[in-house]
Amino acid sequence: MTSIEQYRALRREIDVRTGELEQMHARHLTCKPGCHQCCVNLSVFPVEFYAILEEMRRLVPAVELTLDPNASCAFLKQGCCRIYACRPMICRTHGLPVAFLNADTEEPEMSVSFCPLNFVDAEEDELSFGPDNSLNIDELNMRLYAANAQFLQEHPELRFGPSDRIDLRELVVRLQQMQVAAQRIE
Ligand code: SF4
Ligand code: SF4
Repeated sequence: MTSIEQYRALRREIDVRTGELEQMHARHLTCKPGCHQCCVNLSVFPVEFYAILEEMRRLVPAVELTLDPNASCAFLKQGCCRIYACRPMICRTHGLPVAFLNADTEEPEMSVSFCPLNFVDAEEDELSFGPDNSLNIDELNMRLYAANAQFLQEHPELRFGPSDRIDLRELVVRLQQMQVAAQRIE
């Protein structure tokens, strides 16, 4: 499996799992179109950047390419994500309870975080999280890291280091360059 295929498989798994968690926690989730306080400008690993770039290249006629420099994430328009179908992995987990190893505690331990707009009226026992009702973000990040490591091996010509990330806004520059190149060929 190529690294991009690995990334896409991981993303599909995340969509299935987040769909289950959304159903499970529906009563406590206030996420809806137009709510975007979780959206900020992001950087992503090269494997994710190039996978999204390839998807957006196919969607280009339908995607408006101008960015809003004043929005918390430049891909927002009237509070909605303009690249929703191909948004990064982290955006797909927004709002849900995510479990992670917290190194800030005396003894590192698993902690869970979620958007403060959600679970507002939850009872104490509904705030008890474990593997069955939360998303282990550390495990997903490790798999993303592994897919990215493979991508760097597949594409040494891109000269990325193991921790390099790319600003998501670069997508627009790259797409515009591709469009200009395509027009020249036509
Ligand atoms: S890419 Fe879309 S979902 Fe992700 S932060 Fe930006 S606007 Fe929000
Ligand atoms: S995660 Fe929070 S800010 Fe983001 S859509 Fe859900 S409720 Fe709104």
